[in-house]
Amino acid sequence: MQKEKKYILSLDQGTTSSRTLLIDETSKLVVKQQKEFKQIFPNPSWVEHNPEEIWNTQLETATKVISENNIDPKNILGIAITNQRETIVAFDSKTGKPVYNAIVWQCRRTAKYCNEIKLKYKKIIKEKTGLEIDPYFSASKMRWLLDNVQGIKELVSEKRIRFGTIDSWLIWKLTDGRSFYTDSSNASRTMLFNINENKYDKELLNVFGIEEWMLPKVIGSNGDFGYSDKKYFGTEIPIKAVLGDQQAALFGQCCFKEGDLKVTYGTGGFLLVNLGEKAVFSENFLTTIAWDIKNCKGFTGKNPTYALEGSTFISGAIIQWLRDELGLIKDSSEAEKIAISINSNEGVYLVPALVGLGAPYWNENARGTIIGITRGTTRAHIIRAALESMAYQITDLILPVKNKLPKDIFVKADGGAAKNNFLMQFQADLLQMPVTRSSQVEATGLGVAYLAGLSLGIWSSKEEIQKFWHPDELFLPKVSRDNEYNKWKEAVKRSLNWEN
Ligand code: ADP
Repeated sequence: MQKEKKYILSLDQGTTSSRTLLIDETSKLVVKQQKEFKQIFPNPSWVEHNPEEIWNTQLETATKVISENNIDPKNILGIAITNQRETIVAFDSKTGKPVYNAIVWQCRRTAKYCNEIKLKYKKIIKEKTGLEIDPYFSASKMRWLLDNVQGIKELVSEKRIRFGTIDSWLIWKLTDGRSFYTDSSNASRTMLFNINENKYDKELLNVFGIEEWMLPKVIGSNGDFGYSDKKYFGTEIPIKAVLGDQQAALFGQCCFKEGDLKVTYGTGGFLLVNLGEKAVFSENFLTTIAWDIKNCKGFTGKNPTYALEGSTFISGAIIQWLRDELGLIKDSSEAEKIAISINSNEGVYLVPALVGLGAPYWNENARGTIIGITRGTTRAHIIRAALESMAYQITDLILPVKNKLPKDIFVKADGGAAKNNFLMQFQADLLQMPVTRSSQVEATGLGVAYLAGLSLGIWSSKEEIQKFWHPDELFLPKVSRDNEYNKWKEAVKRSLNWEN
């Protein structure tokens, strides 16, 4: 009799869609389901999601992957979860119901509060958490919820309020309220987690007025997160790996060595560089926990692995904005054809500071700017400028550290917008470095599935996983883009502090 295939179910809960991938024992992506969900903008710089919609779209894609492919759930050895980070769901532990919409990482509602605490705590927060004080991270969002949601004080006094990162919210739902866990990579984005000690920090909890019982328990990224309730997939399945989306992509791109780096062009744009087991701090960059892996061959299990991170808030999202708000394109994939229909940007620059600017500027009062428009400017120039802006932003992050990187290093690119060849070539030109797109643009969902596979013993070492990585296309630098890049820097200057 033929041996039945075994699988890992990988849940990838992103900012704009929920995805589920089914990965087999040979690391092959067998099938994928994806569902977009609603972006809620109650005020110009506020961003929310409906937590129930996050859960329902995630469950729907997971259920479809199984039912539409006649997979026997008993052959699914484990569940892996990767997720949009920093976004917070406040819910009542007694009823399991959210008390407010999820406040999304892009949301700027706590800008004023963050400016106030910056005066006193900037230095200790950087030393303890590796983060810059910014509305991006979870702690100020939790504070806002505590101060603004009707009835929340009663839930606090009855010890019923919980603040879940998206992974912990999905774990809570999947286990029917039995587990409320997160991993160190997600916890390191809350601004309440001491990355040197790998635990929540009492002083920071006090600064933000949060109590530890409100938060998910932190365990290793390949820990035992509980079992999915039988009612969902007909059998209990263990949840065996959890990683924040950017860290999962770093793992999925097999950036296991110190100095290895990847760039994800998703809703936001993210550079992550593997730092090994030492937390190195660098001005304007974040230091974060990449993963904390125990009892796995090839990982010491003593300390977490750290990463240097440059986060930009709007990358592919600018293309979505051109599509949904301006109606300049019907589909994201059209952008490339239109961009290459002209030979240059003809002096038009777009700074996508729609929610302020993240690394390396950290300017929450910056606002979106289109500059250099003339009577001859067409929609093609705006679209090209938008695509170019995604590459300029990553250049802002890599150029300052380029000479510290190993000489033979190349940029491993992934994320939805990495499909765009114009963007990849423009990036290689700007950096004068080779850029490779992985054969799997789904590095995020694959990365966490690889970790679950290690934890389940399907694969025995990172060397075995390394063999799964194949380049799809290599983009070598062709021309110099120094002049364009200098103009971009000028355009950025004009976008800074606009709100003030
Ligand atoms: P996330 O996981 O953050 O939700 P994805 O990695 O799925 O995001 O990437 C989606 C983003 O990529 C969207 O913002 C979309 O506008 C952009 N995108 C998708 N295809 C293209 C393309 N061909 N060219 C440029 N941008 C694209």
